Amino acid sequence: MRDPRHNKGLAFTERERDAHYLRGLLPPIVLSQELQEKRIMHMLRQYKVPLQRYMAMMDLQERNERLFYKLLIDNVEELLPVVYTPTVGEACQKYGSIFRRPQGLYISLKEKGKILEVLKNWPERSVQVIVVTDGERILGLGDLGCQGMGIPVGKLSLYTALGGVRPSACLPITIDVGTNNEKLLNNEFYIGLRQRRATGQEYAELLHEFMSAVKQNYGEKVLIQFEDFANHNAFELLARYRSSHLVFNDDIQGTASVVLAGLLAALKLLGGTLADHRFLFLGAGEAGTGIAELIALEMSKQTGNPIEENRKKIWLVDSKGLIVDSRKHSLQHFKKPWAHEHEPVSKLVDAVKAIKPTVLIGTSGVGKQFTREVVEAMASINEKPLIMALSNPTSQAECTAEEAYTWSEGRAIFASGSPFDPFEYDGKVFVPGQANNAYIFPGFGLGVIMSGAIRVHDDMLLTASEALAAQVTEEHFKKGLIYPPFSDIRKISANIAAKVAAKAYELGLASHLPQPEDLVKYAESCMYSPVYRSYR
Ligand code: NAP
Ligand code: MN
Repeated sequence: MRDPRHNKGLAFTERERDAHYLRGLLPPIVLSQELQEKRIMHMLRQYKVPLQRYMAMMDLQERNERLFYKLLIDNVEELLPVVYTPTVGEACQKYGSIFRRPQGLYISLKEKGKILEVLKNWPERSVQVIVVTDGERILGLGDLGCQGMGIPVGKLSLYTALGGVRPSACLPITIDVGTNNEKLLNNEFYIGLRQRRATGQEYAELLHEFMSAVKQNYGEKVLIQFEDFANHNAFELLARYRSSHLVFNDDIQGTASVVLAGLLAALKLLGGTLADHRFLFLGAGEAGTGIAELIALEMSKQTGNPIEENRKKIWLVDSKGLIVDSRKHSLQHFKKPWAHEHEPVSKLVDAVKAIKPTVLIGTSGVGKQFTREVVEAMASINEKPLIMALSNPTSQAECTAEEAYTWSEGRAIFASGSPFDPFEYDGKVFVPGQANNAYIFPGFGLGVIMSGAIRVHDDMLLTASEALAAQVTEEHFKKGLIYPPFSDIRKISANIAAKVAAKAYELGLASHLPQPEDLVKYAESCMYSPVYRSYR
């Protein structure tokens, strides 16, 4: 009863109560899991403050794991915003004040030289997925230091709920190298190291020790997902470890895969192939350049043209304006491939007029940048302008669904990072799609795990995008949707997992042999079920 893995609360049956000496420890009534679920959902809905719902969910996870996952799976659209963005952001900001029982593994500079020992302190032996953050860029909230732990915990609960990875196979880790967040440093309840961030060699050495220790302790087949690192570290870590470890960066690769899926689906509405389109991004960071690169890769796959050719169809604007060749000497290396020949342009609206994109994607983290002028310019160039306002949370969205539909006179195809309600324009109801990373990473991870893949290859990301796009039906398109509804997510994840696994086998990266015959069925059979077991 005290162990969340085994606890069933009032659902212990009469026979279980007898067999396990539970008589008297519970009130006489026996409830079904369904009734427990109904009761807790009812209680959650009473809470008006989102953070209270988050805390109630975390308490449930610590008390009765299967009931927690049953709630999450059965009420995914309602509870995703509670255990993940946006509420998890607020939870991280207040993590020290609401701290109860620790979740996940903390590795700080104090553990330098003994990371392997620390890993061995984790009670579970067979770990399959690690989500790790250093807390420097939590969602759009910036540096939250050690309190970023809410993110790996939340992401991994989605690995289980949406992708069916066993909870005991999931390990959330926060690496604490300090924080530059003055407010936290001065907060008496802050839970992390009270120092400014270690950088340079000191940082690189700690991360290297961590990466080596993980491989030594768990072997080649543990998936390490980097999450919410600042972009100056994120690109470098991925580049350094992608050929020696099974690594995946959700902010770069996961985002890219989910957005590419939306684009592939949208082609059915827009017409033409990917290579027939021109793309303009506002924001050239992890998300922007990650998406841009995957689009160029997919074009190469479809047309056989070299990737350098395809990159020329993709333009990015950063805080200094359009990325052009004359800026090349001062650009960060991840922006250099996008510095095309063009005269300097500083304003987005002028870039739209000059480049004439068919697709406009916002990944700047700054709200309200797709102004009326910008959307109208897109609508005057295109019959059906595709506009994706990906910045989170909602307050940072480049424009709202209402603005996109109204300013384009109902012609825009719109998707966003944060959810927007359906909107009626001129008698027609438009349902905006949500380009949520949770469409991809759980199924992607399951595919990697079930095939025993030892590396992540870009082709596996492309395959995941295609698999997701293939789940969008005629009926969804009619509503303007370019993503399938979240309520089907477990089925969607199984399909993505099967395709990703198939690709891993094809590439010779899979170690789980022989290859199962029906990969979709196999994926479904691997998925964790939250239904109570019988302890007779
Ligand atoms: P990032 O690496 O920090 O990149 C931000 C980029 O935006 C940088 O290139 C920055 O320019 C540029 N920028 C900032 N202010 C600007 C302005 N006023 N005008 C033009 N460009 C500006 O951040 P990220 O990880 O890519 O994330 C960016 C946003 O995307 C966040 O809000 C995040 O929540 C969102 N996101 C959404 C999804 C999703 O919907 N599925 C997934 C991932 C991320 P400089 O390089 O010049 O500084
Ligand atoms: Mn993230």
